Amino acid sequence: MTQIAYLGLGSNLGNRIRHLNVGIRLLEKQAGDVLRVSPFYESEPWGYQSPNRYVNAVCELRTELQPLRLLDCCKNIERQAGRKNKTSDHYEDRPLDIDILLYGNDAIDCPRLTIPHPRLAIRAFVLFPLSDLIPDFIVPLTRKSVAQLRDEITDSSDSDRVRPLPPLSSSSHSL
Ligand code: AMP
Repeated sequence: MTQIAYLGLGSNLGNRIRHLNVGIRLLEKQAGDVLRVSPFYESEPWGYQSPNRYVNAVCELRTELQPLRLLDCCKNIERQAGRKNKTSDHYEDRPLDIDILLYGNDAIDCPRLTIPHPRLAIRAFVLFPLSDLIPDFIVPLTRKSVAQLRDEITDSSDSDRVRPLPPLSSSSHSL
């Protein structure tokens, strides 16, 4: 059975736009059909200090992979894009990070995987691109739409840390 999943991609090392485009192409090859990709945004590192800003986007994926298989696939793609194993328990700079934000209407909570992504509702760099794709989708467990969550966060300081990238810089991701 196929499912529609939304994946958050981020990069803050090297050629960040290229890393996102590589990630999208590998998802297309290894995880399913990438139906749509949001505009690209630039954001401050979240949860730690670094001079390297992130480029972020969200992609809409039609997949036959079950959630844990999809997680394994995302982790493999991160490695193929040059990500090394973590050297600490803290957030670190990385060429590519892929988070599973949503998997249909499923709510999953197991040791390796929580869906909806546990920090989805408090991250402007996720809510802005996600609301470009599915503003009216009601996020499981929250009873709120993606646009509502985005508007709530727009009132907080987190939204100052995210800005759209000019369309030209992300145009190469069109499939
Ligand atoms: P990372 O953001 O790549 O450092 O992810 C750290 C760990 O978070 C992964 O190894 C996953 O086991 C776990 N995790 C839990 N929920 C999720 C999710 N929804 N998407 C991606 N990783 C998740």
